[in-house]
Amino acid sequence: MSAPAATLRARVRDPILRRVAAVGLLGALLAALVVAVAGNREVLHGITVPMALLLPGLALLTCLAEVTVVRLRHGEAVEELSLYEAALVIDVLLLPPREALMAAAAGLVAASVVQRRPPVKAAFNLGTYTAAVSVLILIVHLAGGSPGTVTPRVLVAVVAGTFAFTAVNLCCLAQVLGLINGRSPWAVVRAEARLSAYMALGTVATGLTTTVVALHAPLLLPFMAMPALAVTYAYRAAAREADERARSACLLRLSHALAEREDVERRFLLLVREAFDAEVALILPAGQDQALSVTATESAVVRRGAAPSWLAAARDAEGPTQLSEHVAAGLRQVVVVPVAAGGRRFGTAAFAPRARSRMSTGDVTLLASLANALAVSLRGAQHLGRLVEETSKLQAVVEQSAEGIMVVDGDAVVQMWNPALEALTRVPAAEALGRPMARLFDVPAQEPGALLPVSPGAPRAAAELTIRRPDGEQRRIRMAHSATFAAQGLTRDVIVISDLTREYRTERLKSDFIAMVSHELRTPLTPIVGYVDLLRKRGDRMTPQKRSEALELIGDRAAHLSRLVEDLLLASRFGDGGDEIALDVSAASHDLRALVARVVQDLGSPRVVVSVPDTPVPAYCDGGRTVQVLANLIGNGLKYSAPDATVEVTVRSSAEGVYVDVRDHGRGIPADALELVFEKFYRVEDPMTMSTSGTGIGLFLARRLAQAMGGDVTVASTLDVGSVFTLALVHPY
Ligand code: ADP
Repeated sequence: MSAPAATLRARVRDPILRRVAAVGLLGALLAALVVAVAGNREVLHGITVPMALLLPGLALLTCLAEVTVVRLRHGEAVEELSLYEAALVIDVLLLPPREALMAAAAGLVAASVVQRRPPVKAAFNLGTYTAAVSVLILIVHLAGGSPGTVTPRVLVAVVAGTFAFTAVNLCCLAQVLGLINGRSPWAVVRAEARLSAYMALGTVATGLTTTVVALHAPLLLPFMAMPALAVTYAYRAAAREADERARSACLLRLSHALAEREDVERRFLLLVREAFDAEVALILPAGQDQALSVTATESAVVRRGAAPSWLAAARDAEGPTQLSEHVAAGLRQVVVVPVAAGGRRFGTAAFAPRARSRMSTGDVTLLASLANALAVSLRGAQHLGRLVEETSKLQAVVEQSAEGIMVVDGDAVVQMWNPALEALTRVPAAEALGRPMARLFDVPAQEPGALLPVSPGAPRAAAELTIRRPDGEQRRIRMAHSATFAAQGLTRDVIVISDLTREYRTERLKSDFIAMVSHELRTPLTPIVGYVDLLRKRGDRMTPQKRSEALELIGDRAAHLSRLVEDLLLASRFGDGGDEIALDVSAASHDLRALVARVVQDLGSPRVVVSVPDTPVPAYCDGGRTVQVLANLIGNGLKYSAPDATVEVTVRSSAEGVYVDVRDHGRGIPADALELVFEKFYRVEDPMTMSTSGTGIGLFLARRLAQAMGGDVTVASTLDVGSVFTLALVHPY
């Protein structure tokens, strides 16, 4: 009593057509065999109804039985269960073979017309059933059955024939189901065999009982409706269960898709359409006129296109709405549900069931909550997107900040370390992350709490401290904290670290400069004031020699003072940047040996050891300025080394230029101050404990002057071993 068929899909249409043709051919052959073998027997035992009434009556019954259909879904295909097979058993038992065949075919064709089945499907059904019923008729006929008699032999033959009928039916169906679902026909046969066997039993039982009742107690026939209905309901329950199972699987996949938040709208449409076996499923995003849709004919493709006009009426509906009028041709019912969550509307979804089915209230409620779940997922995706965007903005700020930024957890372990901090501390992020901050900042001579001076009462403390980098250089930094505390103590501290070294140095230079200038000016002024006082009070009583000595000393100190002032003035003409006033140097060719000899003679120190080539070493320079530079370099060599240590002055020449090396064996210069000594007013010594006098502008001027002449002054030094200052000048040609 099963009337199997398959919903046909365009994508497999051609191979299906071939199979339908084959099944049709098989049906025709077997039908011809029935006509040939069974012939035309008109004898009806115990049947009083004339054939002219019986045949149409049974054909009508067969048609009605086929119309009471229950659809069973197999993935993309649908099997239809009906009482048709039971009617066939009745036809075979009550009619001669040829008429039975006619009643079966006529009933089926009529049912197909009533149900407006697609022609291919109707043809397939006709072929299948003709083949199957022919087999049944042949078996019953061969067992000697004749219309209206139910002997034990006939009974056995009907049972065997029904199983044969079912087998033929199933094999034909498997061909098409296998094709549609991409499985082998044999797998379909195996999966369906059990259910088909039960159905065969049901068919025999219902058909036989009805026939016997019709023959022997026709008055009881109306009661046969009860078992028939019971069987129909049993099928319907089985169909619903199978549907629910398929739908649950779809909904499970849908819940995964919603949780993944990727491509949700498209996946939602595909899965919901499949779960509800809808003809059309679409989503119209809020504020747009282009909708996403998927249809049963192209069930794997989501298309974007203009929203259908019938949706306009319901697109702003607050709750589920059903449209049944003015919708597109072929759609009987459309369910429209809002895609909204948490007060936000993302759009509208619409679903139309297949032409022959309707959505129940339960379906509509389920669709509404699924649309709500979609909205929740979309909202989550939006939040996530915004979060990612914000995080990346924050990341960019942290990455590109000129200030060092560090985040530490409650145990003062580093969680974040930005590139500016890498540059400032010379500690790479990879090394810093996960380590306690105290291990990363070498803070000489600071109390232990200096690194983390925050407390619940002062979570925004700031502190200045000096750190020593791994390369030995000291940096002055400012740490501005922004800490958060919980009951158990510190939970996090965000620290912005600025490099104050330059400002700190400038500040120090300013105060050093005042100390230095007052000291340097006082030194020559003291003897000048003393001698002038002496000359005024007792000058007339002094010997001419004493007086001239005093005047000479005053003149010498005054000259020193004027040199000092001149240097200061000169230095002030150079800014720290590139806006300095051009130095006027009048360069010409000078023998470097002669210039060195003049400086050494002026200094008059026996500690200076000169070594020069025998031949002149011509250099392109300003004679007076070169003497000034050399006097500073050699003077420093003497000043910053022991009173008995020598200072070696070497003049040399190479292809690139000419050089004077001034080597001393004195205190040397720390590595981090090697370049700083050329800065204006920079002195390695602390001006408060000055053991040597100086202004810190000698080397600054020396380098600027050398550069103005096209050369340079460089230094190499080892602390406590000595230094080599080199004046490089260019050849005059
Ligand atoms: P000044 O000697 O007047 O202080 P300079 O500009 O000539 O100024 O030198 C700057 C600083 O460089 C000095 O204060 C000193 O600390 C350091 N310096 C210069 N030459 C030497 C040297 N030969 N050995 C050690 N330190 C030196």
